[in-house]
Amino acid sequence: MISLVDKIKTDILVVGSGPAGSVTARYAAMKGAQVTFIERRLEVGVPVRCGEMIPSNEEIKGMFPNLEDAESLFDIPKELHLRDIKGIKLIDPKDKCTLLDFTGYTINRDKFDQYLADEAQKEGADLIKSCQFKEIKDGKAVTTCGDIEYKVIIGADGPGSRVAQSLGLMRNHMPYPAVTAQAKGDFEPYVQMFFGGIAPGAYSWVIPKIGQANIGVGFSPKFSNGTLSHYFDKFVKMHEFDVISDKLEGKYVPSEGAIPKTVAGNGMVVGDAAGHVISVNGGGIPLALIAGRFCGQVAGDNIKEGRSLIDYETLWKEVLYKPLKIAANNKRLADTFAFGSDKRTEICMSILGMRRMGKLIRCKHLFP
Ligand SMILES: Cc1cc2nc3c(=O)[nH]c(=O)nc-3n(C[C@H](O)[C@H](O)[C@H](O)COP(=O)(O)OP(=O)(O)OC[C@H]3O[C@@H](n4cnc5c(N)ncnc54)[C@H](O)[C@@H]3O)c2cc1C
Repeated sequence: MISLVDKIKTDILVVGSGPAGSVTARYAAMKGAQVTFIERRLEVGVPVRCGEMIPSNEEIKGMFPNLEDAESLFDIPKELHLRDIKGIKLIDPKDKCTLLDFTGYTINRDKFDQYLADEAQKEGADLIKSCQFKEIKDGKAVTTCGDIEYKVIIGADGPGSRVAQSLGLMRNHMPYPAVTAQAKGDFEPYVQMFFGGIAPGAYSWVIPKIGQANIGVGFSPKFSNGTLSHYFDKFVKMHEFDVISDKLEGKYVPSEGAIPKTVAGNGMVVGDAAGHVISVNGGGIPLALIAGRFCGQVAGDNIKEGRSLIDYETLWKEVLYKPLKIAANNKRLADTFAFGSDKRTEICMSILGMRRMGKLIRCKHLFP
């Protein structure tokens, strides 16, 4: 840990200690580069703003067939796996349920993020908490803990990325707001996703943990006419959830797939900052790890042997581009045909049926 009185000069500055930032920092440090990652929050991963579900390695490999060595990247210690997920129940506005075989597991997201940040520090990356990036000025990063000199800067600072803005890269437009909380109780080992007016243009969810579940709501501003807390309260009332969280935690979810350009000069963006999120379901943790590994490796090689940063964009695109593009197209189809009224949602879910809804979740073409 660096003390704030030190003058900070580093090879690679990573902004953000979410999954994308920590994995980037870890793989860059493994290359022998000097890495500093900064986090504006007091504690890594706190508060939790996530559904806390990760697909199984088999599902991840199915979604991203070009991904190599998924095993080492997703070698998450067993003690962080809270609960195995056996499937997903997709529930239409009239409560008709379609059960998909889909395996995964739940986590405590704060512990998960802290584990990834620890792994980066074990490789020699320095973490500075309570340090917020503001802008790039005269080639230095201006932060709340002083100016930081770097050779490469990486924005892993989430959907509203200030680093992307400072580098002149596009930021996600039309991100969806989503809120989450914990509810007490015994829940079956299935994720439940509820569609229709309960979460216009997106879905509300129940994701089982141990003795409790993560519950939440996301919506598309274009299809809704209330506040998120209004929709959340309605969802809670409808299912009589015993909410144990003190307050709702919310964040934006990129909804349109990856931004086209993720490298500018000596800067790169990764994870939510780059739109590495599956548009149809808002899942982004696996993608943050996949792109983070490429980003860290290329940044490290850039410092050590002058490798071009553009290689990062080539690498993540080989694995993520096509599935993300298909998901974004499927999302557009859903916006056009399935959302807007409960009747339309119901008809579309019935037409799609189990097989095609499985394709939707797994970023595959719906037709033929
Ligand atoms: C409600 C909700 C539920 C979700 N559920 C799931 C799920 O169940 N499964 C799944 O796979 N995905 C889920 N996602 C998506 C997933 O959380 C993200 O895709 C993932 O967190 C992306 O990781 P990241 O590291 O890119 O960004 P983040 O996790 O957002 O991390 C960014 C970090 O950067 C820090 N930061 C931001 N700005 C600055 C700054 N200026 N200076 C310093 N630090 C800064 C932030 O504090 C944060 O710690 C969900 C998202 C939401 C909003």
